[in-house]
Amino acid sequence: MSEKRKAIIIGAGPAGLATALRLKTHNGLDCMVCEVRSEPTTLGGAVGIPPNGLRLLDRLGVYDALCARGYGGRLLTVHSARGGVLGVKDWVGWARERIGYGYLRIKRVDLVDVLLEAVQKEGIEVRYGVKIVGIEEGGQGQGEGAVVRFEGGREEKADVVLGCDGIHSVVRRLVVDPGFGGEYSGFAGSFSIVPADGLRDGAVNAMAGLHAMMTEEGMVMVNPCTADKGEVMWGFSREVSLPEGGDSRDGWEETRKAEVEGFKDYMLKILDGARGEWAETVKDIVGKTSVVKFHPIYRLPLGGRWHKGRCLLLGDAAHAMSPHAGQGVSMAIEDVFLLSRLLEDPSRPLLEVFAKFDEIRRPRVDEIYTLAAKNADGRRKTGPWGLWMKETVFDLYMSVSGVLGLDQRGVGQKHLIYDIDEVEI
Ligand SMILES: Cc1cc2nc3c(=O)[nH]c(=O)nc-3n(C[C@H](O)[C@H](O)[C@H](O)COP(=O)(O)OP(=O)(O)OC[C@H]3O[C@@H](n4cnc5c(N)ncnc54)[C@H](O)[C@@H]3O)c2cc1C
Repeated sequence: MSEKRKAIIIGAGPAGLATALRLKTHNGLDCMVCEVRSEPTTLGGAVGIPPNGLRLLDRLGVYDALCARGYGGRLLTVHSARGGVLGVKDWVGWARERIGYGYLRIKRVDLVDVLLEAVQKEGIEVRYGVKIVGIEEGGQGQGEGAVVRFEGGREEKADVVLGCDGIHSVVRRLVVDPGFGGEYSGFAGSFSIVPADGLRDGAVNAMAGLHAMMTEEGMVMVNPCTADKGEVMWGFSREVSLPEGGDSRDGWEETRKAEVEGFKDYMLKILDGARGEWAETVKDIVGKTSVVKFHPIYRLPLGGRWHKGRCLLLGDAAHAMSPHAGQGVSMAIEDVFLLSRLLEDPSRPLLEVFAKFDEIRRPRVDEIYTLAAKNADGRRKTGPWGLWMKETVFDLYMSVSGVLGLDQRGVGQKHLIYDIDEVEI
């Protein structure tokens, strides 16, 4: 490879921007990011970032900027649909005590904006509105690069092409694993962000983190998502059957339209039977929401290929999973840090780097993917008895957990202190 290696990074989401930043600042690579959208993401919603991800974002130099925008409340409060609270726990407390990072809820636009600012400060070129029409994977020899072809006839050569282009990755489709693609998880989410100032008196001030309530149809979650608690995200995640029109963009379009237009009536109907102060707060939040997004959740089956030639997939392009472990962004950042470590020795052949990447990442990705799928089960449709059963089991778990000191022993939190920089390479 040449003295100063060049990376073309496809996709300017969290994975792409973090990759560019790390490979430029830590490995000295010449990086260029190509994004198909015409401008930085306008995708809505807010993501939660747990301790393992926050620690790496700190090493990336963006932690303070993220904390200045996002909300870092400590507690998880689970409310009963019959009124009252089933349990309150400092759900990342054990991890925070060990590594010094908690949980941050941040608007997706803010996350991308902070990463983009850092990337631009490093003078890394980010091209928007570019369409890739072909990729040549390139040989492994000295001076043999991969070639990326853009619409309009322009081409760029690079030592490495990194597919950070999400679940529908063009790098996967054109080179790495053309026959492999996403599958519908059976779950979908409706979500929105509302200003806090129009809500019931003191409702937002009383929130101390993430609030969840199970219903017969699925789970509703509420979390402030800005540092000043000025905005609150809510989301409702539940089982949704495939559209009658089929598992296609057009098929989903009809469902999406109906969900978006009818969300208020639907949610208020679901919440109708719920009692207590919290239920009133949720009804108020939903009632004051003007627009929701509806998102059928797709994921990649486990076991797909991650690299070919000089191309490697990172983040959702490699291992999109259900969002119910809240680890998608953190998994992407872990990918980035491992790749960066493996590239520290410029004499290490790329094939070996990618093979080692694969070997080290698989077990961790499989573990978190499985956890996310298991967490999704809590959103399944139940009848009234099913809901009663779920709440009772949760209640029981909270009591047993308290008696046995499960939180103090880190049960359910071990994966949050995983440090990819400590893994032997
Ligand atoms: C409803 C929902 C809730 C979620 N909640 C959480 C959460 O709380 N915590 C969490 O960590 N994760 C969450 N996730 C998952 C998280 O959003 C993803 O794991 C994360 O965004 C992955 O980042 P990425 O950069 O790999 O992919 P993406 O965010 O998908 O970014 C890919 C980028 O590539 C661009 N692109 C696509 N195709 C091309 C192309 N052909 N050429 C160039 N560019 C291209 C896209 O426009 C985009 O900018 C959630 C996901 C969903 C759907």
